[in-house]
Amino acid sequence: MEAKKTIADVLNKAQEYLHNSKNLELIQSAYEFAHLKHEGQFRKSSDPYIQHPLEVAYMLAELQVSPTVIAAGLLHDILEDTDVSKEQLIDGFGLDVANIVDGVTKISKLKYMTKEKALAKSHQKILLAMAKDIRVVLVKLLDRVHNMRTLEFQPHDKQIKIAKETMDLYAPLAHRLGMYRIKAELEDISFKYLDPEQYQNIFALINQQKTVREEDIRQMQVRLEELLSQNHIEKYDIKGRVKNIYSVYKKMTSKDLDFDQIYDLMALRIIVSTIESCYHVLGLVHGHWTPIPKRFKDYIATPKPNLYQSLHSTVVGLNGKIYEIQIRTYEMDEIAEFGIAAHWVYKENKVYSPQEQQLEIAAKLRWYKELLTYAEIGESEDSDPLETIREDIFSANVYVFTPKGDVLDFPTGATPLDFAYRIHTEVGNHTTGAIVNGKIVPLTYKLKTGDVVEIKTSKSFVGPNEAWLKIVKTSHAKHKITSVLNRLKRDALVSSGKEEFERILKQENIPQLKLDDKLVNAHFGKYGVNNLEDFYFEIGKNAISAKGAANRLAGRMEKLDEEALIKQYSDEEKKKKTRHPANDLGIYVEGLSKTQIKLANCCHPIFGDDIVGYVSKGYGIVVHRLECHNTRHSDEQRFIEVFWDPDFTRKSYETSITILSFDRRNIVAEMINALNSVAVTIKHISSGKNKDGDLLTKVRLDVPNLSTLKTAIANIKKISDVHSIERVIK
Ligand code: MN
Repeated sequence: MEAKKTIADVLNKAQEYLHNSKNLELIQSAYEFAHLKHEGQFRKSSDPYIQHPLEVAYMLAELQVSPTVIAAGLLHDILEDTDVSKEQLIDGFGLDVANIVDGVTKISKLKYMTKEKALAKSHQKILLAMAKDIRVVLVKLLDRVHNMRTLEFQPHDKQIKIAKETMDLYAPLAHRLGMYRIKAELEDISFKYLDPEQYQNIFALINQQKTVREEDIRQMQVRLEELLSQNHIEKYDIKGRVKNIYSVYKKMTSKDLDFDQIYDLMALRIIVSTIESCYHVLGLVHGHWTPIPKRFKDYIATPKPNLYQSLHSTVVGLNGKIYEIQIRTYEMDEIAEFGIAAHWVYKENKVYSPQEQQLEIAAKLRWYKELLTYAEIGESEDSDPLETIREDIFSANVYVFTPKGDVLDFPTGATPLDFAYRIHTEVGNHTTGAIVNGKIVPLTYKLKTGDVVEIKTSKSFVGPNEAWLKIVKTSHAKHKITSVLNRLKRDALVSSGKEEFERILKQENIPQLKLDDKLVNAHFGKYGVNNLEDFYFEIGKNAISAKGAANRLAGRMEKLDEEALIKQYSDEEKKKKTRHPANDLGIYVEGLSKTQIKLANCCHPIFGDDIVGYVSKGYGIVVHRLECHNTRHSDEQRFIEVFWDPDFTRKSYETSITILSFDRRNIVAEMINALNSVAVTIKHISSGKNKDGDLLTKVRLDVPNLSTLKTAIANIKKISDVHSIERVIK
């Protein structure tokens, strides 16, 4: 156990690279403020609460980040756990510090659930936070490291839950940021709680022959040092390397190996000053000991996507034993250990802008760049681009090669089409086939690590079609294909609009009109028409009536009836477009009056929800919430728009919620109180433990509308130990 850190330790660490008194004062005053505000609070370990932010701040100082981020580390729990407001933080420490703390707090509020969907949600939230400011995630990661180090003080059910979340969310994130040391620690502690037996097993195996192994490594190290000195390599360091417990376990299970078969357990790392020396040393090593075929990897020429660079080789060393040798420069070694954080090392005389730093990182990490782009697009075209990009980032990866030997990484399940789009959009659009390891494969082939992939293209090929959307796995490829398809759809509508307009001109006996961009813009600009193409497009999709437009352009309409011109509905639909009084549910359907309407039993819509109607053979129209999964796979043709009548007041609607919470005394009573504080009626309530040992409370209630339900949910959320609340969809 390392000694507990004090503010003096943090300042000493910081002084290794910070000298400006202003910077040190910022850290000191953040500490004093946090200390004061957390006064009287304690960690589960019975340490005063301030110990936790101090440890986080110390780790941040070790990474040599900016003083702002260290201050934010000291203050990171203050918005959540004390009465301090964000405004106070802005006043005291500036907007930058306040924003980081606020960001960390928002991620913390996301309570984790075991369900796949909930995990996806936490991934998304954390990705969005990263897109806004990647420093938030750095603080959050170190916050998690310290929470894992003190996990022993949590009750068993929390240990499991936190360990699982760490394994699913934070360790992959650290990996993607190239922060190997943090990733290894997070994995090993999680593993210890999630599978104590296997953990002890491997721990014991590693320790069993530890002394023998250490002696072997020592001898090999001595021999290497002689070799390097004889060959005039001036500056170098040689370290023995320990593989982390969880990665040994993963290797054993994924490759079905026995412990004895894992030979990179004994690894030596040689660190030198220049890249030339790396290759020089590699030559010396290979000259002395036989390399094992296919085990040499040059990650200097082709770095891993998380920026890792190194030479790897495995040789038969002294006494016939097998050693993995890694050779890299000092700079590469820093990046290998600390990942992106190594790029953040703060220099006092430089002016920093958080935005610029984001862009610098984006230039280095491909996935981060994609993330920024998609976060910007928001939820426009695709239903949710983040949903797909999170898969790219968190799902296991395969590494494949271009014919030139560049390494590209893809999520599991990616196909040659994903590869093609990664190379270049034009390559993707003209792909006709793929060759993997010299053999022709179908485009649906699933890429495997080590594959060498070559793409066949043809200029005359028509390009993407709908089916491709199902083949590709990466958000990048999906996005590119969708935009081509949209373009094609638009082209088709433009040409059919043009045909229709010309037909009408003939039919109405209008002599050729002289049309140009300016003219159509003058007449139809307010409908988004900027040029002729837009004009035909609007006609093609039936948003502007060809007949009305023709007459108007020919000057035959003096005073225009806008309604006549803009036909939002086909004539037949228009006939129906009278609004009928709402039924006793407060729902009306355009054009239909006597239909039976029923609220779906699966998602229980209440007044104010986003809804959609489904024309059901037996029941008339069944109204679902838009987010209800039962609306997804059904026949699209049978959906119909339905609306809540805004004037409708009456009625209550039945709906159900589930509340996931820590199991403690009185918590259900507090929930009932919170519900009773607003105008809802509890019809049924039941509680029980779920398999993680948390309390799952189901409430069926009558509510007048969505806003009342929202207030009720907000009140329950304020109860301490409540993790999450969900509306039930069956
Ligand atoms: Mn914390």
